[in-house]
This record gives sequence, C-alpha cells and structure tokens, in this order.
Amino acid sequence: MNNINIRNVAIIAHVDHGKTTLVDAMLKQSGIFRSNEKVEERIMDSNDLERERGITILAKNTSVFYNDIKINIVDTPGHADFGGEVERVLKMVDGVLLLVDAFEGVMPQTRFVLRKALELKLKPIVVVNKIDRPDARPIEVVDEVLDLFIELGADDEQLEFPVVYCSAKEGIAKYSLEEDSNNLKPLFETIIENIPSPDGDINGSLQMLVTTIDSNDYVGRIAVGKIYRGKIRKNQQVAVVDRDGNVRNAKVVTLYTFNGLKREEIEEGQVGDIVAVAGISDINIGETISDIENIEALPFVQIDEPTLS
Ligand code: GDP
Repeated sequence: MNNINIRNVAIIAHVDHGKTTLVDAMLKQSGIFRSNEKVEERIMDSNDLERERGITILAKNTSVFYNDIKINIVDTPGHADFGGEVERVLKMVDGVLLLVDAFEGVMPQTRFVLRKALELKLKPIVVVNKIDRPDARPIEVVDEVLDLFIELGADDEQLEFPVVYCSAKEGIAKYSLEEDSNNLKPLFETIIENIPSPDGDINGSLQMLVTTIDSNDYVGRIAVGKIYRGKIRKNQQVAVVDRDGNVRNAKVVTLYTFNGLKREEIEEGQVGDIVAVAGISDINIGETISDIENIEALPFVQIDEPTLS
C-alpha cells in the first residue's frame, strides 16, 4: 500500500450529457471541504470571480481538491476515431466516471471508450446527471447502464459499480434519490473511496510516460504524462527513451502540475501525479522520460485501429 494523496480519474460522457458543467461544479467546490467544517456556509461565502465565471471548454487535464486529496480529472475523447488517445489516457488513470443523462440514458458513442475502460479493468463510477430534469428517469437509466456493462463484458467487481445521482447544473450529488443535498460531497467521497490511489515507488528512479503533447509559443512542445516511479525535478538532466529503445539526453526546463484548469509551475513532481514538462523540443508520445543513471523504458501503449461498434 502507499499513501499517495492523489486520485487519477477519466471522465466518459456522451456529448451534452453534462461533462463540462459537472467539472465546472467540481471546480467551484474544489478545496472547500475540510473535516469538521460546515460546507453550506463555505459555498455561500465563495465569492471568487474566477470560480463564478464558469468554463465553456473542458480542458484535457483538470484537477480539484477534496480534503487535501488531489483528484486529476482527465477528459476522454468521446469518439472511436481517437482510439489510440483513448487507450493512452485510460492507462494513466485508476478509475472512470461514466456520466449519463438521466433522461437520454446510455448512448452508443460512449461504448467504445467504456469497453476500453472495462478491458483495462478500471473501476467505473456511474454518475447519473440531470436528475433535476422533469422527464428524468434515473432508475431505468441505471438498469440500462447495467445491461450495457454486461454486454461489454464487465467483470463481477465492475458490475457492482457505485451510482451517484447528480445535478451538475445545481452542483449537487446524492447517493439515493430520496435524500437532500446541497453540494457534491457524495460524488467526491465516492471517488476517494472507490478509486485506488496510484501505485508506484516514490524512492525509485524516475520514470514518466508521455501520453499527450501540448505546445505553446513560449516554451514549445510540452510533454504531458504520469510519473510511474520516483520524482521529477525542474532542471533535471534526464534520459528519453523512444519507442525503439533509442536513448537521448535531455533537460527538464520547466515543470508544471495541473491546478484547477491551469498549469502551475512546480519545482518537483512526485510519483502518481500527472505533470507537464517543457524543454524537450523533440519529445514524442509514447516516450519514457527516465532517470539518467538508471535508464528504463515503460511499455509503449499500442495504438489500436479504432473499431467502430
Ligand atoms: P458536455 O457536452 O457533456 O460537456 O455537456 P455540457 O456540460 O456542455 O452540458 C450540455 C447541456 O446540458 C447544457 O445546456 C447544460 O446547461 C445542460 N446541463 C448540464 N448539466 C445539467 C443538469 O444537471 N441538469 C440540467 N437540467 N441540465 C444540465
């Protein structure tokens, strides 16, 4: 066991089922929950303009805090065309949130991503959203999800998925439809309890797998991925191992973590976290950033041809 205060979770949803609204609501309530504190007042007092403004486009990586635990939320492309990317994203996380509209129910476009998540033995949490809709039929929708899981070959543990009922619009979540709620605490709690913290040896030598490439005009290519072992530091000399096992030297010029919707510069990143590294101008997806003294590649995530089903 380890005690890494991180949870890495991917969010899967059909378009318009409320992914952006939900992450937005989670951001607004990020960091406001502390043990022994009354939540209601904190939400009401929250006068942070940044938080109130809301987001319109979901970032690929967002993080929120709950009781000092950092939850990294990674968006998944909804469509099978992004087969390889879906697989790489899912390899970074230890669980998924399947978000389903309480009226529309399960939609075929999420099947591909869901099947991949089930194949990778990830633990799903089913979030039935928009329970405030007058035409909502949340109980039936949960049954539909169960049928879909069976059809997609979910194992026994996956079939016992926790369900959270939610209105992202109102910023509330519940364990059952009968109870009252004025916040998302049940959702945060379900994530913390059901999704394992990432594995990995903090004292081992650095291994980070590059999952996506970002870029901006100032720093050029930015490698985003999870630290599988050890720590990474700003200014560190590292080895980069490509997919054929070739090694080259490089330097971590700038290091970022994800904080809310923003990238935030840090001096050091630790095992389990998802970080971004600038300064390696020729970095590619699938490459390992490794300790220079102990060069070891992580297995490359194969890009499958998307199978439309
Ligand atoms: P996304 O495409 O999954 O990111 O969906 P959005 O978050 O953009 O939401 C799509 C639409 O559903 C928007 O008009 C939202 O206002 C609406 N919506 C999202 N969550 C809820 C909810 O809990 N209840 C209701 N009634 N509408 C919601």
